[in-house]
Amino acid sequence: MIEENLKIILNELPENVELVAAAKDRSAEEVERAVRAGAKIIGENYVKEAQAKFKVVGEKVRWHFIGHLQKNKAKDAVKIFDMIETLDSLEVAQVIDKECEKIGRIMPVLIEVNCAAEPQKYGVLPQDVQGFLEKILPFNNIKLMGLMTMGPFLVEVEKVRPFFKKTKELFDQIKKDYTERLDWRYLSMGMSDSYKIAIEEGANIVRIGTAIFGKRK
Ligand SMILES: *Cc1c(COP(=O)(O)O)cnc(C)c1O
Repeated sequence: MIEENLKIILNELPENVELVAAAKDRSAEEVERAVRAGAKIIGENYVKEAQAKFKVVGEKVRWHFIGHLQKNKAKDAVKIFDMIETLDSLEVAQVIDKECEKIGRIMPVLIEVNCAAEPQKYGVLPQDVQGFLEKILPFNNIKLMGLMTMGPFLVEVEKVRPFFKKTKELFDQIKKDYTERLDWRYLSMGMSDSYKIAIEEGANIVRIGTAIFGKRK
């Protein structure tokens, strides 16, 4: 199952689009199967869960953090993750920067955008993204590389398109304004039900769980 699902998805993704296999609640064994079938990046929402799988699967794949990062977990997170896709707080950025400095690494980071301004969602509001970015720029151990968004959950998936479009516009505007200062290149949006729409709207990272691993229990 995992192997066939992954092959179909990898085959249909355009060359410039990277797949993050979203593996929350999946076992290390399931992750191993995905890796053997060609997954290059594993996405994890919880640091503890990721640590356990990292022990088994290790550095033969890249690891992206896609959950909500708490300040007290940032220290452990910077040791295993190759990218943090969900930065939305200055306080967490301070901890990431400090902990990365200690271990001598520079962390690639995406800013999470709350593109539909949903009160219950994490992420920076679209109109606040540039101000937030300016606050993160001074950190020497954080490398800002793009935007990530969840998008609203809508029964009719096509209705998420305008929110992806809006996030792409924001992404392009920042790219234009900061070409000299940033290596700004990743736009992470789209999940199992919405990744095709997201790619049409300019995503170059998609995060897919259910369509690879099956329904979560
Ligand atoms: C779980 C998750 C996904 C994948 O969702 P599916 O609907 O299972 O494809 C993508 N992004 C984030 C942030 C997630 O938590």
